[in-house]
Amino acid sequence: QEDVFKKLVSHCKEYGFVFPSSDIYDGLGAVYDYGQMGVELKNNIKKYWWDSMVLLHENIVGLDSAIFMHPTIWKASGHVDAFNDPLIDNKDSKKRYRADVLIEDQLAKYDDKIDKEVAKAAKRFGESFDEAQYRSTNGRVLDNQAKRDALHARFAKALNDGNLDDLRQIIVDEEIACPISGTKNWTEVRQFNLMFSTEMGSTSDGAMKVYLRPETAQGIFVNYLNVQKTGRMKIPFGIAQIGKAFRNEIVARQFIFRMREFEQMEMQFFVKPGTELDWFKQWKEIRLKWHKSLGFGDDKYRYHDHDKLAHYANAATDIEFLMPFGFKEVEGIHSRTNFDLSQHEKFSGKSIKYFDPELNDSYTPYVVETSIGVDRMFLSIMSASFCEEQLESGESRVVLKLPAALAPVKLAVMPLVKKDGLPEKAREIIDDLKFHFNCQYDEKDSIGKRYRRQDAIGTPYCVTVDHQTLEDNCVTLRNRDTMQQERVAISELNNIIADRVSI
Ligand code: ATP
Repeated sequence: QEDVFKKLVSHCKEYGFVFPSSDIYDGLGAVYDYGQMGVELKNNIKKYWWDSMVLLHENIVGLDSAIFMHPTIWKASGHVDAFNDPLIDNKDSKKRYRADVLIEDQLAKYDDKIDKEVAKAAKRFGESFDEAQYRSTNGRVLDNQAKRDALHARFAKALNDGNLDDLRQIIVDEEIACPISGTKNWTEVRQFNLMFSTEMGSTSDGAMKVYLRPETAQGIFVNYLNVQKTGRMKIPFGIAQIGKAFRNEIVARQFIFRMREFEQMEMQFFVKPGTELDWFKQWKEIRLKWHKSLGFGDDKYRYHDHDKLAHYANAATDIEFLMPFGFKEVEGIHSRTNFDLSQHEKFSGKSIKYFDPELNDSYTPYVVETSIGVDRMFLSIMSASFCEEQLESGESRVVLKLPAALAPVKLAVMPLVKKDGLPEKAREIIDDLKFHFNCQYDEKDSIGKRYRRQDAIGTPYCVTVDHQTLEDNCVTLRNRDTMQQERVAISELNNIIADRVSI
């Protein structure tokens, strides 16, 4: 699986999906740029989300709030005091790690060991993996399982209590070594705030410290009454926003999974107090359905309900996706209570209560949030779509089986040869279709090579213009996944493609 992941990362670079930021300066940690294909895919993902939220729901509207906000907002939201990661340094390598991630890696090692033992037992007794796991009589399995469970319980307690000494003690007791130096010489654990800050303007007292927003949600909260009043919205209603967020992540790993500059698609749904858990349940279901509608297979998703809740939440779940490195969070759904709005009332001194015309009374709404990372969604889609196929001819091909609606290029148009008026005919077709879909013209190399290039960027359809086209105005239409070809009239192309690339 790790191998597949490496291939995917290099594929992203080779075909213009994702480049390391500042590549000619050897990159910048956990910051990435999206190339000519990446930006198209990313825009399509955003549109797919936006349409499903704003277009399809009468009671959800959009917003685009600024990245810079009044610094008191981050005091009110709790980010200045509580948006921290527990860090530990290795004294020999001088490398810094997140204490919780070191322990999570240790848990994953136990899981690996257990899986290996179960697989061995399955082989020995001629059972399936599931049967062996169910029986699980192997002493070594039970032993590792017990150690893992004990570690998990201790870890959850330390996190819950915010006990930094305990976190360190776990690392010491488990004899966790530094991945770089291999030594176990650790410092104390200390908290590190994840917000980036900069200075704005200059006043007689000096410049004002402002933060780059670590989530887009607060821009929605401080605008909710502006939107409600000007849009004459009635509770329940939602505000959706897509935008950049910034976090000074210490352990930046796994490509675009954990970045320092990333993009979020968030929707905050404002509801009557007391109804939030029903809405939470509904949104949980709606969001999972949305993910599954992409067609990668239902077994690729699961919920992870949180037992440990953030200070603002009374229910929380993650939608996890099976990445090449295991199930990982792609989206968070949180019942955020009235915490944020109440805090903003307190810190701003302004009343931001909603007047409910039905109750003839005012209250502070409760909020249910759905928050998804564009980049993680991008990674999940790329990893689910990336295939290496062995063909009957003995050749192999790399194909991105992207859902057609998300593919960066919908149609490639190729003249069979670069002469006899075929390029002109191909251009004519593109000129007709380019207002409807993203089309690409390609005349270089053999047709086989051109198909491979389009497969590699996930183009669902290729059209080939040959000599006969000049006579009968028909072209060959090739399907990316089945590689089947059909002869269709040029006049029909628009309808056929439109029909097949819509969601
Ligand atoms: P994690 O536990 O992985 O750090 P989180 O629980 O802090 O994530 P939230 O604050 O709930 O994440 O943010 C909502 C979504 O934003 C996440 O589900 C994820 O898709 C995305 N996200 C958060 N941090 C990052 C990051 N550093 N890089 C890319 N996407 C991110």
